Amino acid sequence: MSVAVRFAPSPTGLLHVGNVRLALVNWLFARKAGGTFLLRLDDTDEERSKPEYAEGIERDLTWLGLAWDRFARESDRYGRYDEVAAALKASGRLYPCYETPEELNLKRASLVSQGRPPIYDRAALRLTDADRARLESEGRKPHWRFKLEHSPVEWTDLVRGPVHFEGAALSDPVLIREDGRPLYTLTSVVDDADLSITHVIRGEDHVANTAVQIQIFEAVGGAVPVFAHLPLLTDAAGQGLSKRLGSLSVASLREEEGIEPMALASLLAKLGTSDAIEPRLTLDELVAEFDIAKVSRATPKFDPEDLLRLNARILHLLPFERVAGELAALGLDDADAAFWEAVRPNLSRVAEARDWWAVTHAPVAPAADDPAFLAEAAALLPEEPWDLSTWGTWTGAVKAKTGRKGKDLFLPLRRALTGRDHGPELKNLLPLIGRTRAQKRLAGETA
Ligand code: GLU
Repeated sequence: MSVAVRFAPSPTGLLHVGNVRLALVNWLFARKAGGTFLLRLDDTDEERSKPEYAEGIERDLTWLGLAWDRFARESDRYGRYDEVAAALKASGRLYPCYETPEELNLKRASLVSQGRPPIYDRAALRLTDADRARLESEGRKPHWRFKLEHSPVEWTDLVRGPVHFEGAALSDPVLIREDGRPLYTLTSVVDDADLSITHVIRGEDHVANTAVQIQIFEAVGGAVPVFAHLPLLTDAAGQGLSKRLGSLSVASLREEEGIEPMALASLLAKLGTSDAIEPRLTLDELVAEFDIAKVSRATPKFDPEDLLRLNARILHLLPFERVAGELAALGLDDADAAFWEAVRPNLSRVAEARDWWAVTHAPVAPAADDPAFLAEAAALLPEEPWDLSTWGTWTGAVKAKTGRKGKDLFLPLRRALTGRDHGPELKNLLPLIGRTRAQKRLAGETA
């Protein structure tokens, strides 16, 4: 059977780097195996799901280049969940419970105070028809729990290796709420079974769900997929990430931090694996290097400083065509390959190109602090046309004439031509500045 994976976010907030790492790993796994990648919105929590978050998820994945082959939305499938729930009720695997949240809290607190695990006591299974009729006549509505088999649940996890749970050590999960709405624990299994998902790759916060869901797959007659649970990313201080806080959201990295999609992908594909993190310019390279067996069980830390450093390394390699759109969006419509190649070694973010655009295309107040030397240099400026050899020819002549060399030769020229002490190589900048501007700046004029 061909490999099919899914990324199943709830549209209840912005995707953060931890969420999108799971999307990326699923996508790489699918591409590597020649399989399909499904985007599924787990949107049955109607109070918290919002269309703008769903749009944000699609925008983030599209920006990263993670195209999905199939799309599903759980809120389109209520009829199907009702059908499955009815069958589970008929077979006795779903049973009605009437405890209020307060009663359940009391039961839990009492078990915990006795040093016992807070497992649901299945009191509802001992209710008679008459008990249920009485409770319903009092206006109580049931929620429905799945009756787990009290037998071992085992699987071989692609990241964690052999995993073992005792059914008896787990609480029967609630699958249907009091208002009749199905919960994620059920809907996810129904979708994975109906959509023939072969591999469920998700965060390790779902390990205990998996134990329960394996039994639900069996009860609904679905093929049990292979599971892989990845350790969740933390921030640099080791704290968990929250999508409600928007901390390290993909949207803010893109829109506020100026991060390139391949910088984020290059980092997230390798973070927490045995591979070194290196800049990669295409997702195809990451697919070629991907192997889920390289994912380690240790908790990976996400440090925004690492991302910014990688962003810089990516920019230093990116060809002009890959950034032309971004440069135009910054208002640098006339930027061309020569400009880009001149300035990219000095950038950590594309937006910083604006500073160098101003140096080559707008008036600059020169730091002309050695007028006599600068006048001698200006007199030696070659005639145009200028190219990448002009700087060498010119400074060779200035050196011969003045006897200056090294920093004494180059720094006054740089300060006059750009107004700054540091920047891109002047060999590249000089032809962009042009003779007219260069001459004026060497004369101390703002030009
Ligand atoms: N909506 C769930 C989540 O975001 C999906 C978990 C899963 O992949 O099954 O955690």
